[in-house]
Amino acid sequence: MNKTIRSQFPALHQQVHGRNLIYLDNSATTLKPQVVIDAISEYYSTINSNIHRGIHYLSQRSTERYEQARETVAQFINARESHEVIFTRGTTDSINLVAFSFGETFLEEGDEIIISAMEHHSNLVPWQMLCERKKCTLKFIPFNNDGILDLEIYTTLFTERTRLVSVTAVSNSLGTVNPITEIIEIAHQHNAYILIDAAQAIQHLAIDVQALDADFLAFSGHKIYGPTGIGVLWGKETLLDKMQPYQGGGDMIETVTLEKTTYNKLPFKFEAGTANYVDAYGLAVALDFVTSIGIETITRHENNLMFHATKCLEAIDNLVIYGNAPRKAGALSFLFNGVHASDIGMILDKQGIAIRTGTHCTEPIMHFYGISGTARASFGLYNTIEEIDFFADMLVKVGMMF
Ligand code: PMP
Repeated sequence: MNKTIRSQFPALHQQVHGRNLIYLDNSATTLKPQVVIDAISEYYSTINSNIHRGIHYLSQRSTERYEQARETVAQFINARESHEVIFTRGTTDSINLVAFSFGETFLEEGDEIIISAMEHHSNLVPWQMLCERKKCTLKFIPFNNDGILDLEIYTTLFTERTRLVSVTAVSNSLGTVNPITEIIEIAHQHNAYILIDAAQAIQHLAIDVQALDADFLAFSGHKIYGPTGIGVLWGKETLLDKMQPYQGGGDMIETVTLEKTTYNKLPFKFEAGTANYVDAYGLAVALDFVTSIGIETITRHENNLMFHATKCLEAIDNLVIYGNAPRKAGALSFLFNGVHASDIGMILDKQGIAIRTGTHCTEPIMHFYGISGTARASFGLYNTIEEIDFFADMLVKVGMMF
């Protein structure tokens, strides 16, 4: 990635502890380009008007922007219809929406849901809650020591009671890129619906929901250079239409009497209350920014970073990499034998290097490896080979200290 792109991210050009910042915490959240920051500031400085309910000029402009943002999202993921795009607070909110609305509409006592054992807590806990509420069973696709899902076991988990599969496209802890096309096909062969958690995929890989033929897909704006507090649930119209609303309130209604309410059509049925229209617009600007670079260009660049970083870290004595799948994106987890992850993170922080340490909201993965957490470096489109070299040099020093 060239200097022009880096120059568009103001947060990259600061010092931390007197050192130039090297930001390797992109799986947690990405930095924002100036166009996104400016778009939000401009919105509040000018239009700043609530959508859908206003006859006045500013409200109408605001509504147009919000609905245009929905079109931009639809195009970015190649949705057939823009009303299949529901704006939410983020991936967690999107998954909870499906767990509630799909669960209430389609699940009965004794039904089954399959997820993988490498899911983020936000693609695990909502299903646990649903299963408790509806007396359903949750089953798990296991993974091996390299962090690869066992698809043979996956196919054996289905019964005639399996209603839904929910799997992450990319693991936020292990970096594994899961074979979602195959996972989706297998789910459909068994007449189960499938949700793809794309929180760690949308910013690294091209996503085409029609080609994938998933039933639901969720992602967060803040992981793809957009604002916090905005995310997307995409779902097939035929399914969303049948599902009960998630929350009640303004905008999601058609008519209301004191006794009864009829619900609005898609997508508004699932967007109760004042929408986060400013950040939806910010997200659209972020997606346009990514499109202007080209997601394939980003994938290629980040693959080079991952390949280089893996090679550097493999050469360091006493360092163990967690997750050795042949295809990885974003996250590189590691530990030094006998060293606590937070000690690694603290030493690197003093050198201006931001990584994340801990369980990364995937405690079951840590239980699998018998560790309390990992140190995780994660890459974005603005990271460079030089930054990885400095990071690896510092890690060699950390290794020598212990
Ligand atoms: N799924 C995965 C794979 C994630 O990495 C994350 C965020 N770390 C989430 C879900 C939840 O995203 P959010 O916190 O933005 O809702």
